[in-house]
Amino acid sequence: MDKIFSLLHRHRYDIFCCCVITVILVLFIFVLPNNETKNILNIIENKTFDIRQNIISKDKHVSKDIVIVTVDDPSYEYLIETYGDWPIPRHIYAKVLDYIQQGNPKFVAFDLLFVKSLNRIPQSDNQLVDAFSKYKNTYTAFNFDDYSFDLREPPSIDEKLSTDIIIKSENFRPYKFTNCRMILQEIIDVTDKIGHINTPKSDDGFIRYIPALVNYPVYDENFEEIGSRYYLYMTLKLAVEYLNKYENQNIEFPLVVDSKNNLLLGSRKIPLTDNGEFILNWYGDSGLNNPNSFKYISFWEIIKSLQLLEKGHKVLIEPDFFKDKIVYIGTNVFSLSDIKTVPTGKYFPGVEMHATLLNNILDNNLIKKASIPVNIVISLLLSLLAAVTVFKMRSVFFSVMIFLGLLILYLYVSTFVMNHFNLWVWIAAPVLMSVFMFIISFIIKYLIKSRDFEYTYKLATTDGLTELYNHRYFQETMTKKIQNCSKNNTKFSLIMIDIDFFKKFNDKYGHQAGDAVLKHVAKTLKSNVRADDYVCRYGGEEMTVILNSSDKSEAVKIAKSLCKVISSKEFELSPDLSVNITISLGVSTYPDNGKTSAELIEYADKCLYMAKENGRNQVGNLEQ
Ligand code: GH3
Ligand code: MG
Ligand code: MG
Repeated sequence: MDKIFSLLHRHRYDIFCCCVITVILVLFIFVLPNNETKNILNIIENKTFDIRQNIISKDKHVSKDIVIVTVDDPSYEYLIETYGDWPIPRHIYAKVLDYIQQGNPKFVAFDLLFVKSLNRIPQSDNQLVDAFSKYKNTYTAFNFDDYSFDLREPPSIDEKLSTDIIIKSENFRPYKFTNCRMILQEIIDVTDKIGHINTPKSDDGFIRYIPALVNYPVYDENFEEIGSRYYLYMTLKLAVEYLNKYENQNIEFPLVVDSKNNLLLGSRKIPLTDNGEFILNWYGDSGLNNPNSFKYISFWEIIKSLQLLEKGHKVLIEPDFFKDKIVYIGTNVFSLSDIKTVPTGKYFPGVEMHATLLNNILDNNLIKKASIPVNIVISLLLSLLAAVTVFKMRSVFFSVMIFLGLLILYLYVSTFVMNHFNLWVWIAAPVLMSVFMFIISFIIKYLIKSRDFEYTYKLATTDGLTELYNHRYFQETMTKKIQNCSKNNTKFSLIMIDIDFFKKFNDKYGHQAGDAVLKHVAKTLKSNVRADDYVCRYGGEEMTVILNSSDKSEAVKIAKSLCKVISSKEFELSPDLSVNITISLGVSTYPDNGKTSAELIEYADKCLYMAKENGRNQVGNLEQ
């Protein structure tokens, strides 16, 4: 525990730096992102969602009770050839609907807009209206618009198409549309099984979200907004009826959105986003290309069957095929622009999104986004682990490998969590943050290392008491200086210094006072030579100065000045006791007085001895 505490204490500034950087990263990534960074992060996050969906969709199975009838290219060619331009007369749909209803399907839903059109044939439309009034299990759709340049007066929508919702969540803001493309009033008159089919695209053109409910104004006769109502997505309306009828769920209106954005459908809690959207859980590529997904029937096959039936021939699809099925009818022709891009498929018929949503509601496996605090905690944890790998591992290679392993593990866990708990935890921000942290930890680690190295180096080369270079450093420097000077043919000098009568001083004033004198002398010597000269403690009370590129006369001059500085200044031992310290010195010069370190030391030592002999407090000279 003490060890940990002292470690924490020693690295308190680094820990402080790490914390500051983490806070900045959290603010930068989660709290304060401007729209640009938010968009980039969102796009990357959406892509990670797509990858996860593509991986996990292989494990999922669609309900075989959901069937899609599409106006495909052969049907389209046939219809255009027979009836001219799109939209085709509506009695065709009435006939197809009659045929399907013979088989007693649970539901039929048109992902088609029966809007007013120029080539409208009223009798034909009326046949479809009759069909809607006859079949109470049949749904159809309308669409909202929000073009900013819309010049049309926004139509009011019949109140019976709206739904009351009790919203208990404070941050729930369903999308509000401002205009609408209404379908034939005659259809609205006979049925209220009509829902919207808006599917807004994400920034990258993919569809991942479907608005469960949207807001639309109530206008007065002057088109002034006097209120607003909620409208359900067509398949949600159908799903509520399905659950009540076939699962006895007793779901009542108004529907309830609870405080955690869950839409309560009987025993199911369906998660919605803050904007009131479902996040679809995909079943792989479209059933058009994927035999494990929804079954597609060509519209043309049913028309052909009708014709064959009239002639008494064997039909292509028996009405019985539709028994107890939920049948969606839509198009998958490119020119009718009902082909979308979704995470698991580039060409995905809009009608299959309804099938996917219904299947999701029945399986109760819609995707829920983990809350922002949970994502922040994950990001912090991953960043912490990134920092720990850097600080705990000696080898850069291993820390990089372990960190990569950690990221791969996280990707695996996040995919697992989406597969088994339908939970979307963020990948982009946590990975980005931990990579940042990993790099920053490396920088900090190497800063600490270089500082530790500096500290150890100082410990190894200096004397603790005087803070002068120690004996070992002195010897190394002498050797280096000799090599350099011999190579460059230059000179340098050595001064040996010994404090006079130091033993007596110690005896008189004690060793503590002696130590103070040693410090004082060391400091005075240091401050009276050049910054690039080396002042060292040779041992005991003996010190040396290595003078860079000084010849003998200059060195003697410096030695004399040092002698004078020390003797001239009284040293204050205590406030009421000052003493005079003197030193004796000896000087040798390379190469004049010796070519090796030992020779130079010996010569300077002899000079020093001379100084002592001659009465101390002077620079000894052998040459006189
Ligand atoms: P001289 O003038 O001839 O040099 O006399 P001296 O007493 O200084 O000579 P000597 O070399 O006999 O004594 C050196 C003394 O320095 C002996 C020792 O007690 C003292 N000394 C050596 N290292 C230290 C130290 O780190 N602290 C203290 N307080 N005294 C030290
Ligand atoms: Mg001595
Ligand atoms: Mg001495």
